Amino acid sequence: MKKDWDVIVIGGGPAGSTVARYASQGDISVLVIDGKKEIGEPLQCGELIPTVDELKRLCPDVPDMEDLFQTPDNAISLITTKLKIVPPSGKGLVFPFEGIMLNRPEHDKELIKLAKSKGVTYLTESYISKVEDNKIFTRKGDVFSAKVIIGCGGTNDPVRKGFWTEKSLNIPVKFMLINGNYDNSTVELHFGSCAPGGYAWVFPKKNGANIGLGIQKKFSKGKSLKKYAEKFYSKYEGDVIYEGSGSLPMSGSVKTFTKGNKLISGDAAGMVLPSNGAGISTSMIGGRIAGEVIAEHLLFGTDLTEYNIRWEKQMGKIMRNSKRSLKMGNLLFRSPDFLVNLAFNRLTKNLIWRAVTCRARFGII
Ligand SMILES: Cc1cc2nc3c(=O)[nH]c(=O)nc-3n(C[C@H](O)[C@H](O)[C@H](O)COP(=O)(O)OP(=O)(O)OC[C@H]3O[C@@H](n4cnc5c(N)ncnc54)[C@H](O)[C@@H]3O)c2cc1C
Repeated sequence: MKKDWDVIVIGGGPAGSTVARYASQGDISVLVIDGKKEIGEPLQCGELIPTVDELKRLCPDVPDMEDLFQTPDNAISLITTKLKIVPPSGKGLVFPFEGIMLNRPEHDKELIKLAKSKGVTYLTESYISKVEDNKIFTRKGDVFSAKVIIGCGGTNDPVRKGFWTEKSLNIPVKFMLINGNYDNSTVELHFGSCAPGGYAWVFPKKNGANIGLGIQKKFSKGKSLKKYAEKFYSKYEGDVIYEGSGSLPMSGSVKTFTKGNKLISGDAAGMVLPSNGAGISTSMIGGRIAGEVIAEHLLFGTDLTEYNIRWEKQMGKIMRNSKRSLKMGNLLFRSPDFLVNLAFNRLTKNLIWRAVTCRARFGII
């Protein structure tokens, strides 16, 4: 394998594969390096993304969604039409919401195929231990260099760790796949003492569900995530097929995604919407902007900081609203369950929906 590249992307998840796909234009050479043997495995996800039509409503300033999101049938478990927000009382508020329940490993593999079809090269089983100037060092002792290096390695990305000082609140998350009969039309988010400072989810899949939860330790009164998970899981019957865990960055996007020839995208850049934990679609939105700007930089000399400007135009308002909603949620979710129950009613329904979907609180967008 050659050692000198135009672009090196660290991490081949949704952000990295999308950056690579859009950066690979003309004769630009793009290498994606990932520590895993099989990118996308093991599963670490609730597997829910909005449909393209729903995303157009949620993120109206993001152009040409059809080109970005080309989820093929084999990556889709089922399509849902409703979202239910459930307070401790169990009396949920139901909203229309078109969601795609993914087969996430397939989804990530399809993104790799798309990138490869544009000429991107992948190097797997190569964990990057250090990034210096324009050089990348793998644990195996290989050294690669590139004109532009972008970190898409998630919460522990080496570019983020090495060149950014901002700290992120990463919340621990556990989930399981279970078989059985679940309402195929509805995804559920549960709030209150079942998941202090976070939420629990019940997302239906073909022949079962993906069920999980995340908590903020500062609100959990010394109880472990495992204990919360056991209690929440015990409400659901069926054979557990798989159990997993991970962590979600919940501080929102960092101030700048660019430092010289180093960029970051996806979870590494805090692109998860903190009020609802959605990170797949936002990583791809950010990844496309980064990839396009990198290509323009190499072909026409566009400044790499254009990446920050385009993100701000497409996602800035949504990210700010989402951060604000999480702060509001933190106030509410440290309250006793009876107050949470009171706060979820017909009068607040619209407000809650606006908070979860990152719109301005009082319709000021
Ligand atoms: C339990 C859980 C449930 C979630 N549920 C949802 C959901 O339902 N819907 C949703 O939209 N989002 C969900 N998310 C968030 C979503 O999974 C992430 O936002 C998304 O995967 C971010 O994509 P990414 O490409 O930035 O990072 P990742 O998908 O984490 O990919 C990073 C890649 O980088 C590689 N890598 C990391 N470090 C290195 C290194 N040093 N060297 C080489 N390679 C490296 C990794 O192997 C990996 O392949 C969930 C997250 C968790 C943990």
